[in-house]
Amino acid sequence: MEQIHRVARVVTSRWFVKGAFLAYFVWACVSLWRFAEWARGNGPYVSRPEAVAGILPVGHFTSFFAWLKGGGWDPFLPAGLVIIIAAVLTSLLFKRGFCGWICPVGTLWEAAASLGRRLMGGRNLRPPRWLDIAGRSLRYLIAAAALGFIGLVSVQEAVWFRELPYMWVADIKILEGFFTPVFMAVIALAFVLSVLFGPVWCRWLCPLGGLYSVFGMASACTVMRDEKTCISCSRCTEVCHAFVDVERAGDVRAAECDGCMDCVKECPVDGCLTARALRRLVIPAWVWPLLVVGLWLGIYAVAKVSGNWDTSIPVEAFAQIIRSGLLEQQTPGFF
Ligand code: SF4
Ligand code: SF4
Repeated sequence: MEQIHRVARVVTSRWFVKGAFLAYFVWACVSLWRFAEWARGNGPYVSRPEAVAGILPVGHFTSFFAWLKGGGWDPFLPAGLVIIIAAVLTSLLFKRGFCGWICPVGTLWEAAASLGRRLMGGRNLRPPRWLDIAGRSLRYLIAAAALGFIGLVSVQEAVWFRELPYMWVADIKILEGFFTPVFMAVIALAFVLSVLFGPVWCRWLCPLGGLYSVFGMASACTVMRDEKTCISCSRCTEVCHAFVDVERAGDVRAAECDGCMDCVKECPVDGCLTARALRRLVIPAWVWPLLVVGLWLGIYAVAKVSGNWDTSIPVEAFAQIIRSGLLEQQTPGFF
């Protein structure tokens, strides 16, 4: 029995879950790279992984708005649309659950932050409050500007945009951009800053995180503190990697909370700090990740089985576009 508990603890730990998603993401990127090499005639055929659509958030948010405005489902790269819908639903149910348990980019920065905590005696440096507020505001500004811009795109333009051959291979362009010296330098800088101050990209810059934070504030499930049994030991606040002052919160509505469950696990008083659905039903800390991951896998399974996950673009069309040299042209790589 003790062995089963130990296995359950490992499998539902954040490092295990996030590590699994990161490993899958790396595999998907390698497969996409090999697919592009095959298209250029440089290797054997490798099927194109749909999940890598996640590296095109701006393009797929355009598609998402087009869908909301009645422009129909994206038949070309539907996986991107499914991923956006899954992330929004996760936020509405489980705080920034996408950031806390799934996002492979965030996992890298958190690994850096964890390294920093080990090197600096258990805590990352805390930036001054004014700088933190300014940084977090910047994230919301970027999110609002990006969403405002995308939201204003007309349905016709958005539909036209997703029909562009460039859009179909933009993920490869972005992937190849990861290996440019400028990008590597930015990554190195972000890594060092994360070692020192925690995941600064997630906290200050990521527009997706900003958007999911807003949805997460209305989340149906949150962490709740029982004031009557709390012994004010501060352990929850100390352990929170998102710098949420859990000790003073009743219902943790903080935008930064990603539902990592560290505070719930840390609280020494049984039943004092709990995750709850609709403020009532207690969700054990180990069940929370199962719900988040279950939601993702459930949405993926429904999309896959109903034919709303795989691209309808023939593989030869991808190969033709890549061979045409479109990727080598100086087209905007941002999307
Ligand atoms: S430690 Fe608690 S308050 Fe902080 S992010 Fe994790 S779940 Fe949210
Ligand atoms: S860890 Fe638990 S007992 Fe300690 S301050 Fe937080 S909620 Fe209160």
